[in-house]
Amino acid sequence: MATRKLIVGNWKMNGLKADAVALAHALALRVEASPPPCDLMVCPPLAHIDAVVAAVGGSALAVGAQDCHAAASGAHTGDVSAAMVKDLGCSAVILGHSERRTDHGETDAQVHAKAAAAHAAGLIAIVAIGETGAQRDAGQTLAVVAAQLKGSLPQAATAANTVIAYEPVWAIGTGRTPTTAEVADVHAAVRREAALLMGERSAAGLRILYGGSMTPANAKALLALSDVGGGLVGGASLKADQFWSIAQSCP
Ligand code: PEP
Repeated sequence: MATRKLIVGNWKMNGLKADAVALAHALALRVEASPPPCDLMVCPPLAHIDAVVAAVGGSALAVGAQDCHAAASGAHTGDVSAAMVKDLGCSAVILGHSERRTDHGETDAQVHAKAAAAHAAGLIAIVAIGETGAQRDAGQTLAVVAAQLKGSLPQAATAANTVIAYEPVWAIGTGRTPTTAEVADVHAAVRREAALLMGERSAAGLRILYGGSMTPANAKALLALSDVGGGLVGGASLKADQFWSIAQSCP
C-alpha cells in the first residue's frame, strides 16, 4: 500500500487570478520552507492554471485541473482536452466530481472516456465517486461506489496513473462527514472492487482519497486510516492555513 498520502485542493469556481496566485504562492513558500509529510496538489479553475503554474515555480506543489474533455480535439466549444491540460503544466485532472455529475449530467461512461483521455495525455486521473444521502439511507453505499468504480475505470488504470476520491455527496460542503468506521468500510470495499478491475498488486498501491468536509479538526483521524490515501479538500483548500494544517495532519 502507498505510504505517502496525497492531499488535493479543489478550488472549484472560486477567486480571480490575483487570489489564485496569492494562495498558490503562499503554499509554495511553505512547501519550500518545510516539505510536508505528504504529496500536495492544488486544482485551480482552468482560467487560472497558467498563472498558478508560474506562481508555484519549480516547487513540489503540484497543479491539477478540475475536468477535461474525452476527445483529443475538435468541435467542442468551451471544452478543454487532456493534452491542453497537460500542456499547461498540470500533472493530474479531477474527473467525475459529483458537481459535474449534477451540473453537467456526467455519467460513468463519460468519466471512463475522460479518464482514458487523461491517461493517453500522461495525466493522473483523479476519479471521484460517492453516494447521495438517499442512497446511503437506503443501504446502497457499497453497491453504488462499486458500480461507479466499475463504470469509470479504464482498462489501463494502474496505481501510478489513477487516484480514486471517495466523496459522499451528502458530505460535500455540508460540514457533515461519515464516521471513521464508515469511511474505513467504504475504502476497504473500494480497494476490493479495484482489485477485481486492476489486479491485487495495483489495487494494493492505489491511493483512495477521502473527500467531503475535511477540515483541520477532522483530518488527523481520517488520514490515520490505513486505507485512506489522502484527502480531496474543497472549502478548506481556499485558506492556506487550513490546507496546510490538513497536510500536516498526514501521518
Ligand atoms: C469537494 O468538493 O471535492 C469537497 C470535498 O468539498 P468540501 O471539502 O468543501 O466538502
